[in-house]
Amino acid sequence: MSTRIQVAFFCVVAAAAAIAPRAQPRPAIANVLVVTMDGMRWQEVFGGLQSALLTKEAGGVEEPEPIERRFGGGTAEQRREKLMPFFWTIVARDGQVFGDPSRGSLARVTNGLWFSYPGYNELLAGYPDPRIDSNDKNLNPNVTVLEWLNHRPAYAGRVAAFASWELLPWILNAQRSGIACNGEGPPIAQPATERERALNDFAAELPPYWGATRFDAPTGLGALEYLRSHHPRVLYVMLGETDEWAHGRRYDLYLDSAYRNDRFIRQLWETAQRMPEYAGRTALLLATDHGRGDGAADWTDHGRKVPAAERIWMAAMGPGVPALGVRANVTVTQSQLAATVAALLGEDYVAAQPKAAAALPIANR
Ligand SMILES: [Zn+2]
Repeated sequence: MSTRIQVAFFCVVAAAAAIAPRAQPRPAIANVLVVTMDGMRWQEVFGGLQSALLTKEAGGVEEPEPIERRFGGGTAEQRREKLMPFFWTIVARDGQVFGDPSRGSLARVTNGLWFSYPGYNELLAGYPDPRIDSNDKNLNPNVTVLEWLNHRPAYAGRVAAFASWELLPWILNAQRSGIACNGEGPPIAQPATERERALNDFAAELPPYWGATRFDAPTGLGALEYLRSHHPRVLYVMLGETDEWAHGRRYDLYLDSAYRNDRFIRQLWETAQRMPEYAGRTALLLATDHGRGDGAADWTDHGRKVPAAERIWMAAMGPGVPALGVRANVTVTQSQLAATVAALLGEDYVAAQPKAAAALPIANR
């Protein structure tokens, strides 16, 4: 290179550097997957099978032996790993888990009502709202973090949500938010493949056992198909069976649902990791809408009369989430999830919605 060309080259580079905006580091995370397990107790998340509930009277369990064989173990660590193997061998190893009382941590609901709609509002809007005091089909007056993202150009049309509970479109105010919401009817709204049509046909044959909540299988399979075909940047899956089997005092089926939910979460994560735009650029958040009672009589229940349902759990994993495992001596609230979804994507939800709680303290501190 001649001196003259060198000088010219230098000038061009210097000029480009002067006018270019300050280099923004690309956020490590481009996509977020959020999964909630309705009314899943921290007692089983951290301790696995609780043998006091594995009885006919407390848990409605006619045959405890097969359940004991599947999920039993001498320590809490052994039992929880059998119940939720993906959660405990992958998420807790590579990410962070909040709410373990045995480690001096607490994760709590702040809405004081301890049932579903107030809990989902708190999780997704980032603050409790006393106006939301029933599970009735009322459109959420609050803009959730999902709606806020869906109205930003980088995420428009790239936010989707699937639920086993038919209230999802009300909670996310689907007509205002424009979020692709699937909460009832066929799990694939516009089936395009033979596989998707077969899934809808199969789902239509399942019994409507709980009315407002369908089984988690079609919800999860629908969400997986949506991930593969639509590539959403934010995908929320609201699973519902754990709450329903618990209300029905079927501890065996409650545990089985937790196990299948964990398997679905693994499938969702592994499916994403096989897709180039998700691999290494995706975070996973796991949470619940409320806890439940702590005793043999009231473990089935939650709501205003069951204060133990205030205690919950949460977990996070992904690039940018240091592998700190089960967090000790940290108190967090349900309301912190919303800002966490945004923060993982490099977005500041609290600046836009000052009522929202700060993101979970996932950074090394
Ligand atoms: Zn419930």
